[in-house]
Amino acid sequence: MKAKDFDTSYKPSWCPGCGNFGMQIAMKNALVELGLKPENVLIVYGIGCSGNGANFTKTYAWHSLHGRSVPSAVGAKLANKDLTVIVMAGDGDSYGEGMGHFIHAVRGNADITYVTHDNKLYSLTTGQSAPTSEKGTKTKSTPDGLIEVAVNPMSLALSAGCAFISRGFAGDADHLKEMFKSAILHKGFSLVDVFQPCVTFNKINTFKWYYDRLYKLDAKPGYKKTDKNQAFKEALVWGNKIPYGIFYEVKRDTYGSNLPQLNGKALAKRPIKVKDITALAKEFA
Ligand code: SF4
Repeated sequence: MKAKDFDTSYKPSWCPGCGNFGMQIAMKNALVELGLKPENVLIVYGIGCSGNGANFTKTYAWHSLHGRSVPSAVGAKLANKDLTVIVMAGDGDSYGEGMGHFIHAVRGNADITYVTHDNKLYSLTTGQSAPTSEKGTKTKSTPDGLIEVAVNPMSLALSAGCAFISRGFAGDADHLKEMFKSAILHKGFSLVDVFQPCVTFNKINTFKWYYDRLYKLDAKPGYKKTDKNQAFKEALVWGNKIPYGIFYEVKRDTYGSNLPQLNGKALAKRPIKVKDITALAKEFA
């Protein structure tokens, strides 16, 4: 397999220079290096510019409702545990409309990989503030500056019990590919929050803005990704310096591993026993 084997006949319609391109190539290369084929993978997309990726990447794909990518992905994984199930959704979809689903899937440790296109705006709708926009940000929906403080996906996931928490950058596709590979190999809920510059509407969090600030946790002397206290400290670092890489990784039993009825063959591969429900249906007639 090569990355182009994951191409479809559609060309991406994202704006030239959009961070989505780096994320897409990093994901395709990660799938290739893991030896996965299109038929082994389901990517569930949210609504937003990132969601259009459903047309541009050849795997099984499901373009879900806004904020509902997590339940779709969890359901698919329970039905077919042999599939690699990945979510790709925007920061608004993930931490706004889908926040409840996100937290509860983390709590249960559903065995899915969750990738957030974090551009700090609602970009498909032309640049309104999102849950990750910083306090004071002026956008079309907040002309006098945003009142709320930004959601911190790293500390939020840590406090909810997530066992794999990482941050990537669309401007460092090789590093991002490694984040995706580690996240997919991790058993349980794995989060990769990716800084994905929106070159059209976000004139603050540009590629340069990130290049000037980012440092790799992987290269930080003494950093242990199994140490929750260290992870919390790094999760709170923001400003002139911003860490990226794997913040935290430990083992936890998954949601599916606690369901004995999933032992053996994947549900989707078992014969379907059709029951006659005529009598039951009559009760509701
Ligand atoms: Fe990318 Fe922003 Fe264009 Fe959407 S609007 S495709 S996020 S650059």
